[in-house]
Amino acid sequence: MSENKMIDPAAMHKLSYGLFVLTAHENGKDNGCIINTAIQLTSVPMQISICVNKGNYTHDMIMNTKKFNVSTISEKADFELFKRFGFASGRDTDKFQGLNGAIRGMNGVMILTQQVNSFISAEVTQTVDCGTHTMFIATVTCSGVFNSDRSATYQYYFDHIKPAPAPKAEEKKGYVCRICGYVYEGEPLPPDFICPLCGHGAEDFEKL
Ligand code: FE
Repeated sequence: MSENKMIDPAAMHKLSYGLFVLTAHENGKDNGCIINTAIQLTSVPMQISICVNKGNYTHDMIMNTKKFNVSTISEKADFELFKRFGFASGRDTDKFQGLNGAIRGMNGVMILTQQVNSFISAEVTQTVDCGTHTMFIATVTCSGVFNSDRSATYQYYFDHIKPAPAPKAEEKKGYVCRICGYVYEGEPLPPDFICPLCGHGAEDFEKL
């Protein structure tokens, strides 16, 4: 048995991730993306970590400015929020255009106030190169709670927020993106395939 057979990627899907809108501000531009990797590291001093894909525009903005905000998505959030922040790049769109429910935080970075239950502002003190991602370790500079809505977990997103796949007239062969539901028709799925809708890689696709 090869070593690879000892790894079941589905085990990763059992981790109890939360979901967050990660925002940054640089040179007058606001931007944000969706992450599932905000974690409290220590209480004294209050530190958090986030892990961000290097391909995200938000990643570069945080690298340059060392500042970010995390808004914790609640179970009241709709799929539109995920499409707005998760399925487009801030390089060619203004993700805040027409968005109700966002204010500028004390650090100059936007904070969401609707579809979320709280926010954390932080300043980066260390970065760790993790290959495809950078881990940012940061000191909390400001935080607050907006309401008592429950935080949305990754599982909750899959079960209640992501639309159910449309019923198919005929059975298709291929792979479906776990994140957004995009269907790749064909066999096999190229290992370097990137979802054209949400930008996630082949590892987030499963066989139909
Ligand atoms: Fe996708």
